[in-house]
Amino acid sequence: MKPSPPAIEHPMCHDHSLVFLKKREVEVPCEACKKSIDGPSYSCLECIHVYFHLDCVHLSKEMYHPCHPSYPLEVAEESEKNNQDAEKSCHFCAFQPEKKVCYHCYVCTFTMCFGCIKNPPPLVIENTKTHKHPLRLLLSRIAFTCKVCGIEGYRSKPYICVKCDFLVHGDCIGLPRVININRHDHQISFTQHLGRRGTQCGFCWRDVSQYHGAYFCSVCPNYTVHSLCAFNDNAWDGVDLEGIPERSEDISPFKVVGHNLIHHFSHNKHTLRLLKDNVDIQDDECIRCEACIHPVQVGQIYSCTECCFVLHEKCANLPMMKRFPFDRAPYMLECDRSATYCKLCGMLCAGFRYTSERDMLRYHYIDVNCGSLFEPFSHNAHSHTLYFVISENNYCDACKRVPHDYMLRCDKCDFDLCLYCVTLPEKIWHMCDEHPLTLSCDGNMSGKTGAGATFVRVN
Ligand SMILES: [Zn+2]
Ligand SMILES: [Zn+2]
Ligand SMILES: [Zn+2]
Ligand SMILES: [Zn+2]
Ligand SMILES: [Zn+2]
Ligand SMILES: [Zn+2]
Ligand SMILES: [Zn+2]
Ligand SMILES: [Zn+2]
Repeated sequence: MKPSPPAIEHPMCHDHSLVFLKKREVEVPCEACKKSIDGPSYSCLECIHVYFHLDCVHLSKEMYHPCHPSYPLEVAEESEKNNQDAEKSCHFCAFQPEKKVCYHCYVCTFTMCFGCIKNPPPLVIENTKTHKHPLRLLLSRIAFTCKVCGIEGYRSKPYICVKCDFLVHGDCIGLPRVININRHDHQISFTQHLGRRGTQCGFCWRDVSQYHGAYFCSVCPNYTVHSLCAFNDNAWDGVDLEGIPERSEDISPFKVVGHNLIHHFSHNKHTLRLLKDNVDIQDDECIRCEACIHPVQVGQIYSCTECCFVLHEKCANLPMMKRFPFDRAPYMLECDRSATYCKLCGMLCAGFRYTSERDMLRYHYIDVNCGSLFEPFSHNAHSHTLYFVISENNYCDACKRVPHDYMLRCDKCDFDLCLYCVTLPEKIWHMCDEHPLTLSCDGNMSGKTGAGATFVRVN
């Protein structure tokens, strides 16, 4: 290889002359191909922070490229900018490069960026998870509906199997077929044709077409997710689970040891019995569920056969492992009773909690009240269902505070509830009144103009 000249007078890719630089300590992006430069580079002394890869500077002004075999490609000139008909963005990656740092075919108005010239998409892809036959890159620009993500229109890099009339985006090839997302406790699997399963996406809650590819849960018949929603950075942990069997028994918090009798992981010295009608303790406000710390006044409970240990039936059924929209990592149920603050509602929690280990031994805790919330969520305070969103300075329509993290929202009505207010119990005993107080939300809680929630005494 011949040594790089110390300076280049009239480079093809830049208006000023460029000088050779040795490897820099910090990596900078190349002005031409936008990829980072980790070796020596050429830099412009007149413009600040303009660097080029050595090979980007040395690309020839005109070339034949396998991705556009019929005519030569030329480095696009400045004058092309004003040509309305000329294709402005790269045919393959849709990036819109500056003139002088892209190639153009003046016969077909075909444009290719430097990055794709250097690393072109493969002309044929074989042995993919997505399709049983080899897929061939389509070199002309066509509008189509991708068989995997279901999105239609012009998007980059269409691949085709002519035999099956199968068209797919290059970016959608090889997506894993079995994954976990943090909106659902079971694994979800990809299918080419959803068919008559669910019709609503469990991530964005928009419609899912039965004619395109999507993810579905084999346990829950109606649970489906758009392919692209499943790969949202906030949902998928990046792990491909194909071939790894799902182990549902791992998340069960108890073993059945007899008729209505269980051994719960949180109380392993004695057996708990299911009481269908908890008459004995109905009026005793002091007996609280060990998991959620709320009094056990309503509903079925599990009560210890030998000591004073009680769990709501729903709290006894909380799974050992759970996934939340708030995090990509799964959370584990713990019952060690040390007091911690719930990351979502900010309340001190002394009952069970869900824990996720962070880096540097930092933990995130979610109490079981927040951990039992699910989407779509119905609350007495609002007539529509609510969905989790990041609060983004929206205030809660009940307490008027701005939560620091997540809240539940109805988009239609601009109605928000913070997780502190959402998890308030429906009924409480307060020392100021001998009767129970019931949560009242009837102050027209329909949007940002509504009144807050209060506890009122009902007779
Ligand atoms: Zn470059
Ligand atoms: Zn490109
Ligand atoms: Zn095929
Ligand atoms: Zn979706
Ligand atoms: Zn499921
Ligand atoms: Zn409970
Ligand atoms: Zn909480
Ligand atoms: Zn609403």
